[in-house]
Amino acid sequence: MNNFAKSPNYLVRNTRTQIVNASILMMCILMCMIGCTKTRGVMPHTEKMEWGYEAENGPDVWAQLSREYVLCAEGKHQSPIDLVNPTPAKLPAIPYEYYSTTSMNIRNNGHTIEVAYPEGNWIEVDGTRFQLLQFHFHAPSEHTVAGKPFDMEMHLVHKSEDGNLAVVGLLIEKGSHNVAFDPVWAHLPTAPGEMQHVENVTVDARLMLSLNGQVTDEAPQYLPSCYRYDGSLTTPPCSEGVKWLVLTTPTEISEAQISAFKAIIHDNSRPVQPLNERKLLVDSTGDEQ
Ligand SMILES: [Zn+2]
Repeated sequence: MNNFAKSPNYLVRNTRTQIVNASILMMCILMCMIGCTKTRGVMPHTEKMEWGYEAENGPDVWAQLSREYVLCAEGKHQSPIDLVNPTPAKLPAIPYEYYSTTSMNIRNNGHTIEVAYPEGNWIEVDGTRFQLLQFHFHAPSEHTVAGKPFDMEMHLVHKSEDGNLAVVGLLIEKGSHNVAFDPVWAHLPTAPGEMQHVENVTVDARLMLSLNGQVTDEAPQYLPSCYRYDGSLTTPPCSEGVKWLVLTTPTEISEAQISAFKAIIHDNSRPVQPLNERKLLVDSTGDEQ
């Protein structure tokens, strides 16, 4: 009875077991596929440490964090540099057209605070026009002047149509409160990754660059006297071919303004790099502008 009675049940159970097993197998395959896909997507981030400014991920080891950062160690035209013993040169003044903007996207990207600038603002260097993309800040300054660091440095990053970069650097030292920085400082995002879109604000890069706190509506304007040299990004991947224009006269902001920035972004400066075979020029033609 047992064998006869059990057989059909056994067959049904066996079939069920096979279906269950097949289902489990399919699920395992599916989960593995999802898992593998996920792992592939995550790996680039988990494999390499994010660059930064601490001992374990700072400028001294950037090149070790990724093969893409090799120039940070091996590049011969790196930035920043110590601005010392420049060769005076009579160079044509650099025209620029910046306008104020009434809204801004301001971002804490974990390395700095960056303000995206709308299209239609440019500088012209050696006959090439470079569009202003964004400006951001470093504390302390990255460039030094005859070995002296400044409290902060502003970088205005421009890009030409063929993808080359030109950066205007503005050294900033402790002094009087600077109202030109107020609209940005009023909206500094405190958390890494935080982005704010701010409406009804007047941000004027012209005013921030202006050394006397005034701008006129004349266009184009001309950059004041600057140091000029060919360098690199001061952050990974340290790409070279960047035209650097660092204003010779620093601007001032107050100690409270400096502290407000440093409370959010701590020491985000790359040390100065060797000049090597490069020429450091300084023009004086912009002084009269
Ligand atoms: Zn910078």
